[in-house]
Amino acid sequence: MPIRKKLIGRIVDSLLDKYVIRKPPVAVESIAKKQGLQIRFQPLESNLSGFIFRDKQAAIIGVNSTQAKVRQRFTIAHELGHFLLHQNDNLLVDRVLVKLRSGSSNKETDIQEIEANYFAAELLMPRCLIAKDLDHIGPIDIFDEDFITNLAKRYDVSTQALVLRLNGLGYIEH
Ligand SMILES: [Zn+2]
Repeated sequence: MPIRKKLIGRIVDSLLDKYVIRKPPVAVESIAKKQGLQIRFQPLESNLSGFIFRDKQAAIIGVNSTQAKVRQRFTIAHELGHFLLHQNDNLLVDRVLVKLRSGSSNKETDIQEIEANYFAAELLMPRCLIAKDLDHIGPIDIFDEDFITNLAKRYDVSTQALVLRLNGLGYIEH
């Protein structure tokens, strides 16, 4: 079963539009709050990155505050993705070693994780902003550490997340 890339792209575009986001870094915490989510930063077990809990009264994102800030931003975006895409569970707990496979899978939970990660990458590194930054430079040299580090800082994401995203968008030559 493939993930719903078009749907996710449309949802992210409407959020970027609604909150008038025209340059990085994307204010993910503020977007999540405006979407009605509460965010709790707290130390969690080291193998957990976060969770989302919801019932009729409230929806709460828990973020492991012991992790790096860029990781916490990714967690908020990932949980917001679950909130907007996956309404079936009251509690979803995310472990650190979330598989980043992008291929298709038949397991419902795997698909949900891949979709939430895809949503997070689309939201934190919007394709339109990346295009504005990179389209005039041509293919990226991923071994240019300064370039990658600076771009990751600009979007307030990890270099690992950035490289995956650039690869997914076809900016890296193979
Ligand atoms: Zn998840």
